[in-house]
Amino acid sequence: MPAAKAPIYLCTNLLMKFGTKAIHAGLEPDPATGAIMTPIYQTSTFVQQAPGVHKGYEYARTQNPTRTALEHNLAALENGQFGLAFASGMAAVDAVIKLLEPGDEVISTNDLYGGTYRAFTKIFEPFGIRFHFVGMDAPERVNPYLNDQTKMIWIETPTNPLLNIIDIAAICTVARERGILTVVDNTFASPYLQTPLDLGADIVLHSATKYLGGHSDVVLGALVVRDEELARRLYFIQNSCGAIPGPQDSFLVLRGIKTLHLRVQRSCENARIIAERLQQFSAVNRVLYPGFSSHPGHAVAKKQMRDFGGMVSFTLHDDTVEAATRVLTKTKLFALAESLGGVESLIGHPATMTHASIPREERLRNGLSDSLIRLSVGIEDAEDLVADLEAALGT
Ligand SMILES: *Cc1c(COP(=O)(O)O)cnc(C)c1O
Repeated sequence: MPAAKAPIYLCTNLLMKFGTKAIHAGLEPDPATGAIMTPIYQTSTFVQQAPGVHKGYEYARTQNPTRTALEHNLAALENGQFGLAFASGMAAVDAVIKLLEPGDEVISTNDLYGGTYRAFTKIFEPFGIRFHFVGMDAPERVNPYLNDQTKMIWIETPTNPLLNIIDIAAICTVARERGILTVVDNTFASPYLQTPLDLGADIVLHSATKYLGGHSDVVLGALVVRDEELARRLYFIQNSCGAIPGPQDSFLVLRGIKTLHLRVQRSCENARIIAERLQQFSAVNRVLYPGFSSHPGHAVAKKQMRDFGGMVSFTLHDDTVEAATRVLTKTKLFALAESLGGVESLIGHPATMTHASIPREERLRNGLSDSLIRLSVGIEDAEDLVADLEAALGT
């Protein structure tokens, strides 16, 4: 089993504030040339002076310097010790579930990324892993599902697309008492808003395709942990199964991260303005946004997040797919597309797009109605975004 890669030392990172870490942590000028930006090491192998005598790099599935720089930077952003980059967010999900064995059980958030739900139910259940989907916005709802087979609790918060808030610290306390691993998919919040390892989580997961990359030009996934033994097991899975990102994609995410704090700040500001404005439209029924003091998860969000995020969902009084479709096809700045977290604003319809793989009855039971529309608010000027929504929704 390969040794875990060198840890990134927490003490030095703690001295830096977030924006400084985003730009500097884990990075140093290229030792060969002094290049200030991490080079794209487009190579599959590395020359050895004698068998086993090398500069820390042997074969690019195992390690690549561009990827290593990204992994160190990600570890620092999440206040972790070890980072691992994957070919996609789903490849990171896949690696985490490979920590389990047939017979093991996972308690998962019920309102979660559709692709994760699909992998759990269609790929991993046939391998003998059991998943229970639970509305964790009330943490005590996990209790009836805890048993000796429970090995993992899977949290996504804010949830997707209902934007419920799960109390990470409360769930981690229950899990830790029983030796259960807690995984937090932190894609929606980004490490700028929320650092789950500080709240007791064991593994943080990202689809770096979203806020970390931030420019809708790359697909990449990531994990960050503190525990060395856990890191070793995950590196073993990463190297054995091979779902690694290439150096070009690693570079793009490193570049995106340099403005993460600025982008997320602006996106949060815009989301707040849009959520407030949406409430005034007569066609709009409910606006789901954790920044409202009336939101049931507001207090927890305030406690565990720096701001309330750039995602806003809403339903229409005419609660039909057709009514939603009319809105979705009328916006011009809000582009109709899956994904989120980019500089540009997107509009999506979970029932027919990201969450189409969840059966309708289950979707409705969880509160994901036919007309629900999800916005990923970008960093454009808020006035233009509001005008775009006004044109599509009427006032
Ligand atoms: C997009 C997404 C994923 C999957 O990531 P990919 O990079 O598309 O594979 C996982 N979780 C959440 C919350 C996501 O939004």
